[in-house]
Amino acid sequence: MHKQRIMPAVKRIALVAHDNKKDDLIEWAKYNRGSLSKHELFATGTTGALIAQALDLQVFCFKSGPYGGDQQVGSKISEGEIDMLIFFWDPLTQQPHDPDIRALLRIAVLWNIPVACDRATADFLISSPIIHREYGHSIPDLHAHMKRFTKDD
Ligand code: PGA
Repeated sequence: MHKQRIMPAVKRIALVAHDNKKDDLIEWAKYNRGSLSKHELFATGTTGALIAQALDLQVFCFKSGPYGGDQQVGSKISEGEIDMLIFFWDPLTQQPHDPDIRALLRIAVLWNIPVACDRATADFLISSPIIHREYGHSIPDLHAHMKRFTKDD
């Protein structure tokens, strides 16, 4: 039910931070600007605007998270168009778009992409040698999945 996929050497990295975590993510991104500049950056609307400004790098911005941005990122992950998620969600504040947040984290795990939800994990990911080279990982094989429900005759 799984197949191999090759992640490109230049990773498509999605960055998302809740309001109380935005400063943290921007500080982290500034510190790691050199590494991040070697990859393609995507983000939810507000996070993306702040990161683009702070780093002076191009960031593709989806809609703001509570307005559908989280779902857009999840959709791109399921299409194989996002390779890594840095998601500083706020563990102390209830979010109006909690279902979208849970859906995004679920989709990221389902598609087996690296996810960092805190700064320590983000440090480990960004300093991994694998981030700069191709990486084979297993993803759901939807063809095999469909075959279970269709007849071959
Ligand atoms: P934002 O969205 O970057 O537009 O603030 C983040 C979120 O709350 O999911």
